[in-house]
Amino acid sequence: MAQPTNFILTPNEAKSAGVSDPIHLPLLIPLVRSPFSTLKVIALGLGSSGRVFVGVNVEFPGLPLHHSIHAEQFLVANLALNSEPKLNYIAVSPPSAPCGHCRQFLQEIREAPEIKILLTDQNGDNESFVSLESLLPERLGPESLLPENVPRLLEPCYNGLILAGPDVPYRYPDLKPAGLAAVNRSYAPYSKCPSGVALVDRQGSVYRGWYMESVAYNPSLGPVQAALVDYMVRCGGGDGGFKEIVGAVLVEKKDAEVRQEQTARMIMETIAPNCDFKVFHCYEMPKGN
Ligand SMILES: [Zn+2]
Repeated sequence: MAQPTNFILTPNEAKSAGVSDPIHLPLLIPLVRSPFSTLKVIALGLGSSGRVFVGVNVEFPGLPLHHSIHAEQFLVANLALNSEPKLNYIAVSPPSAPCGHCRQFLQEIREAPEIKILLTDQNGDNESFVSLESLLPERLGPESLLPENVPRLLEPCYNGLILAGPDVPYRYPDLKPAGLAAVNRSYAPYSKCPSGVALVDRQGSVYRGWYMESVAYNPSLGPVQAALVDYMVRCGGGDGGFKEIVGAVLVEKKDAEVRQEQTARMIMETIAPNCDFKVFHCYEMPKGN
């Protein structure tokens, strides 16, 4: 059986935990550890590959609540960071529908209105799936601003960015290429200001995440939050929590209209005071190369 800190279950792991049908997703809830929140909201999602993804609410001590990660947003980031092409079903615990913020963020997935959400009655029984469309009719979707052929959040994209010189040495050399790979996968179709973050912990393990925008702007997920999702998914948050993170690199365009530098620095200084935080800039590869 998957460990309680396992935020991704293979189809076989899900089956052996009793999930042979999406309606059984709540069976996994007691197995999920959620050490990052006083709310303990858990979101479970079944992807088109048959893998089950977990998201939990995360609040950062010392930071305003708007820096928090909602469980469903964590779930979507978990899918994006692990190349899951489609999200088909969601179940949330305590039994409830996703909040308005998350209903909006989910719109960045292509065919989002068809995602099925598990709802229960007031007694916690009579479970049934309803479509996201029924929970957010007359939605604001990406198609309002983006042409059909622009990749959506879970679809592969490559931003064609390279690091700007000079090549300043950094004490954690693995982080620069990881940060560059992250910014190249960033989903920033509205601002066209992609960014990526790479982190390293005391054990030398590297984590990465990228900025994911929302057509409604505010529900966008910052690159630090996304990299912290990777950190929590892959090491369960570590014994020392975020203080285990000793190095962080942000990669973004130098004169971007939407810049992450100040916010990213402030978050890292607050949650991991001993972290060595550096910013590297990138630019678009000249056409024809
Ligand atoms: Zn929410």
